[in-house]
Amino acid sequence: MKYYGALEAGGTKMVLAVMDENGETVRQESIPTKTPEETMPEMLAFFRAYTITGMGIGGFGPLNLDRSSPEYGHIMETPKLPWRHFPLLQAFRDGLGVPVGLDTDVNAAALAEARLGAAKGKESCLYVTVGTGVGGGVIIHGKPVHGLLHPEIGHITVAPVPQDPMPGGICPYHAHCLEGLASGPAIEKRWGISGRQLPPEHPAWEIESAYLAQLCANAMLTFSPEMIILGGGVMQQKFLLPRIREKTLKLLNGYIAHPAVSEGLEHYIVTPGLDTRSGITGAWLLAREAENEQ
Ligand code: ADP
Ligand code: ZN
Repeated sequence: MKYYGALEAGGTKMVLAVMDENGETVRQESIPTKTPEETMPEMLAFFRAYTITGMGIGGFGPLNLDRSSPEYGHIMETPKLPWRHFPLLQAFRDGLGVPVGLDTDVNAAALAEARLGAAKGKESCLYVTVGTGVGGGVIIHGKPVHGLLHPEIGHITVAPVPQDPMPGGICPYHAHCLEGLASGPAIEKRWGISGRQLPPEHPAWEIESAYLAQLCANAMLTFSPEMIILGGGVMQQKFLLPRIREKTLKLLNGYIAHPAVSEGLEHYIVTPGLDTRSGITGAWLLAREAENEQ
C-alpha cells in the first residue's frame, strides 16, 4: 500500500493527514498555526513517521503558483506576517524528499469536489467557503484555474444591500467586497453576536443570502461553472441555501436559459459532497498528481 501526505494549511490551524492510495485516512491531526520555525518541524515529524511517496498541500494564500517563477511555491503578501514569503513547497520537498503538489486551499477543495464530490463527472465547478474569510476555488476543464495569480473571488465587489446597517464591510483592502460583507466575522461585527446565535428569522440572513446570491449570479455570468458548491461554517445554517437560490434566480431574471436554472437551481447551487473533507481530500489528489508528474 502506498501512502501520501496531505496538508490543509490554514491561518489558524494546520490539518495533517496520511492517506493511503484509496484515499482512506490512516492518521489525522490538527495543530495550531504558529510561526514557520515552530510549526514546520512539527509537521515534518508527523509525515516522517510514514513512508510517503508524495505530498499535497492546499494552502492559505495568496500563493505563488507560477512554475516559471523563482518564487514558485512561496506564500506571498499574507497578513499572517511570520508566513509572508515563506517557501512552503520547498520546505516540504527538502524536508521530506518527495514530490510536492501545491494549490490554494479552495482550489484543492474544488478539485476534490469535481473529481469525487458534488460535481463528480463535471468538467467545471466553483467551490466557495464562507467562514472566517470567503474564498473560492475554480475548476475549468477539470483543472484548478491559476491564470495571472489565482482566483480571489472572496474579494469581488458586490452592491451593498439597501437594508444593510454595515454597507462598507470590514475588509481592510476593499470598501464593499464580498468577504468584508458576508464572512463570519462580518456577520459578527454587524450584529454584535456570532452567526451561530442568530435565529433564521433574523434580518442578518436576508442580507447574507443577498450577498451570496450576487456571488452566484456573477460566477454564472462570468465563467459559467457547471455547479456552485457552498461550504464553510456560515453555510451550516441550512436555511441559507434555498434563500440564496431564490435570490440568485431573481438577479438573473430569466437571462440564463438552462434547465439548471429553470429547475430552480436545486441541483446547481449545492453543499459539498465531501462534507468537511473537501480540502484534505483535494490535498491528497494534489499529492498523487505530484507523484505522477515527477
Ligand atoms: P475557517 O473559515 O476558519 O476554516 P469556519 O468555516 O468554521 O472556519 O468559519 C468560521 C466562521 O464561521 C466564524 O466566523 C463563525 O462565527 C462562523 N460560523 C461557524 N459555524 C457557524 C454556524 N453554524 N452558523 C453561523 N456561523 C458560523
Ligand atoms: Zn476585500
